Amino acid sequence: MPDDQISATNTAVSGSSSATGDNSTQTAAVPAAAAPSAPASASIGIASEHEHGEGHDKDVNKVLTSINRDFKEKQIKERAKELKIEYVEIGKTPINPDLLRIVDYDIAKNAFAIPFLKVGYDLRLAIVDPEKAETKALMDELKTKGFILHLALTSDDSFVDGLKMYEYHKKFTEKKLETTVSETRQAYDKELEVLADLKEKVEKMTSEEALNIIEVGAIKTNASDMHYEPGAKDTRIRFRIDGVLHTIFHVSNAAYANMTNQLKYRCKMKLNITNIPQDGRYAFAINERKIDVRVSSIPTEFGESFVCRLLDSGKHFTTFEELGYEGKYLEKMNNLANLSYGMVLVTGPTGSGKTTTLYSLLTKFNDAETKIITLEDPIEYRLEGIVQSQIDAKRGYDFAGGLKTLLRQDPDVVMIGEIRDLDTANAAAQASLTGHVLLSTLHTNTAIEAIPRLVNMGLQEFMIAPSLHTVIAQRLARRVCPACVQKKPISDSDRAIISKNLESIKIARPDLNVAVPTELVEAIGCEKCSKTGYLGRVVVCEMIEIDNEIKEAILNKMAAFKILEIARKKGMTTMQEDGILKVIEGATTMAEVFRVTNS
Ligand SMILES: [Zn+2]
Repeated sequence: MPDDQISATNTAVSGSSSATGDNSTQTAAVPAAAAPSAPASASIGIASEHEHGEGHDKDVNKVLTSINRDFKEKQIKERAKELKIEYVEIGKTPINPDLLRIVDYDIAKNAFAIPFLKVGYDLRLAIVDPEKAETKALMDELKTKGFILHLALTSDDSFVDGLKMYEYHKKFTEKKLETTVSETRQAYDKELEVLADLKEKVEKMTSEEALNIIEVGAIKTNASDMHYEPGAKDTRIRFRIDGVLHTIFHVSNAAYANMTNQLKYRCKMKLNITNIPQDGRYAFAINERKIDVRVSSIPTEFGESFVCRLLDSGKHFTTFEELGYEGKYLEKMNNLANLSYGMVLVTGPTGSGKTTTLYSLLTKFNDAETKIITLEDPIEYRLEGIVQSQIDAKRGYDFAGGLKTLLRQDPDVVMIGEIRDLDTANAAAQASLTGHVLLSTLHTNTAIEAIPRLVNMGLQEFMIAPSLHTVIAQRLARRVCPACVQKKPISDSDRAIISKNLESIKIARPDLNVAVPTELVEAIGCEKCSKTGYLGRVVVCEMIEIDNEIKEAILNKMAAFKILEIARKKGMTTMQEDGILKVIEGATTMAEVFRVTNS
């Protein structure tokens, strides 16, 4: 779909109320096809194609054309006002080529009407004359098909221009229309056998179909995000799968321009705004699952770049076992659900699965006797039986203020998205000291760092010590794909690293009887795992329980590394050690553990 026109033109729709005098600057963009013609009330003659006088008076003609056209558009604007409908310069408005499926070119030409924007069943239709029989007939037909029509008056000149663009789309999409078009994503599910087919398919599709099949590809590969990144030569499309970005394919910038418009329609972003970041949201269904898509755009040198986060609202929250918690840490996690008060913090960078762990914990708490309220930014997943609220900083409903409000709702368990300032930290500590379980996240790399982080925020040690119950730090390492995994003899360097870690693990866990293995698993890659060698993820974690000895250490302002020593003696294994144990088990690879723990 090499169509630059769509992105090059801005939407020229204006409400009938503000319909005067703002249009003169756009006149320069009038296509050459436009020429002086009869007033709007006259019938329009598409057959008598406008012709230009060639030669030396070409420039004069151009100026006259422009003045004439300008005058006429003003008249149409006035007329639209009288009719109380919108006014649109359809010749300068992007028309989604997919609309040809609703009203084909010949019908549009015959009915003097061009659909230009469809959102759900709301359809915007540019018309020249609402009283025209053919126009009325088309409107009736569209209404019986269930469309809610929004009319916009356009001049006959603009209609001719618009029709040209429509014809252009027609030539282009004719072939593609023969391919199966489905309203749901289901059809693509079967069609898309291998991800490698995507590029070829996308280039042949309309923008709507292209986005649909890319979404299906993302769902099939369990991607969490789709990235659209325009560059100088072409646009790169990447998926984040199990936390790692993979380039899926490149698409021409022309095709991408169309996809951009389609995507912006979909998530209700302002089409004509391309130079500032925007946020939007939409949803689609596949395999009886509703997928919410959160979209954010930023302007770049080569066009708008989009990141679409896929949120499976039907997602069931995995148990701690499924997440990869095991042994002592699994026991501790399960015990947290019996907590009656205290603060539990999950730390880690973005993408470390903090939210998933918190939601899993909430699910454990969730029963008829427990009142649970959350304060999130944004709400990522809906949980049945839990009161979830969204912060709204503009109206003063931030984490700190919102938490105080929530406590009046008599909750047993409160989850707040993140502690990032003293106000929130104070309110959180207060809440846990007054008999609530408080769950939240903190941006630190390790569990022990949570303590100095809270101190640095300004939270007093005498507040931290009694309120803090447990700090968990976690990362998500990719699991090797069970379908293609292979074993290979351990290398000398891996043996050295593992045996060194096992020594330090023994300090914390003398009860653990683990030896250096002779073989380690290797990620290979097959169709099932999109050739990555990995499928799904496993948690790599560390936990510090704030027992009486550590509470005292905090009160005595003991250095963090000293507190860590205390915790180690009581059985705390570090994230890296936990990862090494998972390598020995064959769940993941050394490379993965080092990647996620940055060590
Ligand atoms: Zn595989």
